[in-house]
Amino acid sequence: KDMDVDVVIVGAGGAGMSAAVEAANAGKSVVIVEKMPIIGGNTNYATGGMNAAETPYQEAAGIKDTKQTFYDDTMKGGKDKNNPELLRTLVDNAPDAVEWLNDLGADLKRVTLSGGATNPRIHTPEDGSPVGPVVVQVLSKKLEEQNVEIMLETTAEKIIEKDGAVAGIQATDKSGNSFNINAKAVILATGGFGANSQMVEKYRPDLKGFSTTNHKGATGDGIVMAQEVGADLTDIEEIQIHPTTDPETGYLFTEGLRGDGAILVNLDGKRFTDELLTRDVVSANILKQKNGIAYLIVNEAMREENASLAGYIEDDYAVQGETIKDLAKTLKIDEATLENTLKTYTAYVKAGKDEEFERAHLTQTLEEGPYYALEVTPGIHHTMGGVKIDTKAHIINTEGQAIKGLYAAGEVTGGVHGGNRIGGNAVADIIVFGRIAGQTAASELQ
Ligand code: ADP
Repeated sequence: KDMDVDVVIVGAGGAGMSAAVEAANAGKSVVIVEKMPIIGGNTNYATGGMNAAETPYQEAAGIKDTKQTFYDDTMKGGKDKNNPELLRTLVDNAPDAVEWLNDLGADLKRVTLSGGATNPRIHTPEDGSPVGPVVVQVLSKKLEEQNVEIMLETTAEKIIEKDGAVAGIQATDKSGNSFNINAKAVILATGGFGANSQMVEKYRPDLKGFSTTNHKGATGDGIVMAQEVGADLTDIEEIQIHPTTDPETGYLFTEGLRGDGAILVNLDGKRFTDELLTRDVVSANILKQKNGIAYLIVNEAMREENASLAGYIEDDYAVQGETIKDLAKTLKIDEATLENTLKTYTAYVKAGKDEEFERAHLTQTLEEGPYYALEVTPGIHHTMGGVKIDTKAHIINTEGQAIKGLYAAGEVTGGVHGGNRIGGNAVADIIVFGRIAGQTAASELQ
């Protein structure tokens, strides 16, 4: 039961589905293969939002921001390892990508602050719900309208080559039967390898044993398949740990919580970091604390404003206390110390200056209860490295040449985020480069 299409896309996450929408828009026949029984991959778990600078939504909110500041923040967060051309492409195309998603019904109109950003630029759904499911929903709805088939429980195993060019993929269906999808273009959108502990350990022996926030399909298949046909890799050892994950399940608590006002305290009841530093730095600071854990402290006022937080509390991730004293008692933290920490912090917020850690955005006084605490530890979150691409999403081989007919977008690629990805840039990456991959593949079909 072999198939013939113009473009085959591997992976139905945000990148793959964006590519599919664009290729189908260009009038090409498109099919997506997805190895899991559901669509969305890690995109389902994207909690924050999408970075973009110089958007009408920022302007409406009176936020002064520039593309250059966005570029500089990302480069700084990425430790100057980002590929400049890829980053420029991300920054230049992000506003249009927000508009594109909103035209599809996403409503990313609320702009908030996220770690590593000088100005508020993370665009989130207006009702405060997590961005990922919204993105997945609007893209899949569009694909339905376009009659693009998504073949679930279908795993791409290998890229087929004919006469020196990519000619499709070999796949396995849910019964384990192997078949070919013949195509003039293959787009790899398989996501990262955060859930492949062997691969993580291969490139980063020091991360052995870390839990992960990733869905279990994030196993790096696209990287392996691309290498088999000569692809070069970039930054493959750059793996991000996210500072605030549940120690038991690896479940991720959005960075937006800290952006919106949460503080971090250790088992001694003391703050120990500017909570809004980049993920790598905050993670390292948590790992220096007793047992390598910390608590995110929030209050009722924050719960009312933040749908994600309300969800965590409803799902029993949080410990609750009417007063700080109550909370400290339940957490077995010294009551006087925790009370003092909160009082001091409230005073900083009121004075507009954090004397200890120089946290820049002091939005919530955290003066009134009830209070909630979420226990957190860093977990493997994002693999910044991957296959090497150019600004048109061609995969580049070890000789520096584009591999004919082979494209990639999203977490399977490397270069955009350099040595550390800042919050809000994963969604920007998958939409911007997913669209480019779909457009380029469609335009280069013979
Ligand atoms: P991105 O954010 O880059 O779009 P995601 O993790 O959201 O990445 O999506 C990648 C998708 O690719 C996941 O749904 C994953 O299950 C799927 N996938 C990974 N490897 C394969 C494979 N070999 N065949 C088919 N689908 C795959």
